[in-house]
Amino acid sequence: MIDQEKVKQAVRLLLEGIGEDPDREGLQETPDRIARMYEEIYGGLEENPEVHLQKAFHAEDNEMVVEKDIHFYSTCEHHLLPFFGKAHVAYIPDGKVVGLSKLARTVDVYARRPQIQEQLTGQIADALMKYLRPKGVMVLIEAEHLCMSMRGIKKPGSKTVTVVKRGDFLEKQELVQTFYAMLGR
Ligand code: ZN
Repeated sequence: MIDQEKVKQAVRLLLEGIGEDPDREGLQETPDRIARMYEEIYGGLEENPEVHLQKAFHAEDNEMVVEKDIHFYSTCEHHLLPFFGKAHVAYIPDGKVVGLSKLARTVDVYARRPQIQEQLTGQIADALMKYLRPKGVMVLIEAEHLCMSMRGIKKPGSKTVTVVKRGDFLEKQELVQTFYAMLGR
């Protein structure tokens, strides 16, 4: 559970730390607003993707399932600034598939935490391997990081791309090519 009181105190201190007056009219409600917002954007910390992935159903002869353009918002754990973009998830079923929305829910479980993109990509792939037990998984994420756009090297629009492969995708290059083709790459 998110400790709302702690978050409120911290935001107040933060505002003081940057030289603001937390009691001025525009900021009075800010600690409370942020504490409530964190319930949502960090709510993934209390979730396990197993609840979404355990309801699999039987399906034969599926070569590959691809859910692309899953939009997500996450928070970079180094700066607590947003990074956001699209996740593309593919798996090779081994007789079992899940509802397509469950793939998006799995992305959300891990996106709604302090994150780094590389880890997010790997956690999605590993959760699918663990709970769905397919023959292989591949996840590609492309995202813009506000810590790159609005500070530091200030390169707005630049995308970070991360790829993780598990199982058959590691051995069979043609599967990787099929996935890229389905993404239009
Ligand atoms: Zn960052």
